[in-house]
Amino acid sequence: MGKALIIGAGGVASVAVHKCVQNSEVFEEICIASRTKSKCDDLKAKLDGGKTKISTAQVDADNVDELIALINEFKPDIVMNLALPYQDLTIMDACLATKTHYMDTANYEPEDTAKFEYKWQWEYRERFEKAGITALLGSGFDPGVTGVFSAYALKHYFDEIEYIDILDCNGGDHGYPFATNFNPEINIREVSANGRYWENGEWIETKPMEIKRVYDFAEVGQKDMYLLYHEELESLAQNIPGLKRIRFFMTFGQSYLTHLKALENVGMTSIEPIEFEGKQIIPLQFLKAVLPDPASLGPRTVGKTNIGCIFQGKKDGKPVSYYVYNVCDHQECYKEVGSQAISYTTGVPAMIGAAMVLTGKWNKPGVYNVEEFDPDPFMEELNKWGLPWVENFNPVLVDDGEEAPKQ
Ligand code: NDP
Repeated sequence: MGKALIIGAGGVASVAVHKCVQNSEVFEEICIASRTKSKCDDLKAKLDGGKTKISTAQVDADNVDELIALINEFKPDIVMNLALPYQDLTIMDACLATKTHYMDTANYEPEDTAKFEYKWQWEYRERFEKAGITALLGSGFDPGVTGVFSAYALKHYFDEIEYIDILDCNGGDHGYPFATNFNPEINIREVSANGRYWENGEWIETKPMEIKRVYDFAEVGQKDMYLLYHEELESLAQNIPGLKRIRFFMTFGQSYLTHLKALENVGMTSIEPIEFEGKQIIPLQFLKAVLPDPASLGPRTVGKTNIGCIFQGKKDGKPVSYYVYNVCDHQECYKEVGSQAISYTTGVPAMIGAAMVLTGKWNKPGVYNVEEFDPDPFMEELNKWGLPWVENFNPVLVDDGEEAPKQ
């Protein structure tokens, strides 16, 4: 049916490539292109020989001309951006220049400012409309599936959603005192920033990790979770009409938090360049280099993730609560695709999002977040490709539990 150019060959891209190859009816041909070509070649060597034709290329995705040349040579129907958030705009520029559909899993963030927001990408709306191409933003799990869950809840169970709590629980254990489950630089920038949530039309800012709750997750158990700002809050606050409050919580263990605090206290999480032995280095990038590569966590991570959304609102004038979530087992993922569940839960929806565009189910010129499309075909595909979801119409609410004392 179509051709996809996949940019990036890290944890998420590796899973997406496995899934594209499994879904060969839609992905007839893929080209894996990244900064380090050997990683693309390794993936090709692992997966070649099936129905999907695989090629590889070297590309610097910060360079629009290089991207345009590659797109003109391979002529994909869609570019799947699975590199880093810093490359979103250059890849969107190249898609515009070549009239090629675009998708990604994380919103743009300038490399020198830890501030991610959709404003830069939403500014491309008119240009994508005029070019007659679709840009699908944030098709990972969170953002991604959490937006699809929201659209599904609104379509099937609510007249009005008033409250959304997104709960991201990783009950996995990799045995290291400190490691991050996806790109350490992106992960640490996200969790060391101030928290923020949206209530009654306003953003309310909190200190990092200031708001803590305890929640008992299905198939994982009781975990401490902390309020963070997360990018889908921005789009869902706009796209879910009548919403009164939306928050995002992520679980962290005590060891992770203690290490993070110490690293912060000594300046290792800073993105301000410093002079070291006659060279400018960025402490956070140096830290990334000494931490375990997230891709290496696969074989040693045991346990499960549980990510989902709790909705409260009204249907036919009556109050409704609805919790929809997915549970994913780290070792099962590793057996299937050689990656842990964090990469898996992002790579599968990335493949599904691209398939939605390629099959024409989600094909509308412009720039869109996932919740702006019909959720039903995406929800069906989640069950089919390894991320089945569970519904609970009588969930324990986040604030029902005991409020944990502040640290
Ligand atoms: P990795 O660091 O494992 O992989 C990133 C890949 O991008 C690497 O192969 C890297 O190449 C490549 N890359 C980086 N810069 C360039 C460049 N300038 N040109 C070409 N290639 C480049 O990251 P992950 O796989 O963990 O994450 C990928 C994306 O997924 C990120 O944007 C992340 O924020 C997002 N994500 C989204 C989630 C969601 O649920 N929505 C959850 C988790 C992640 P090299 O090998 O040379 O370094």
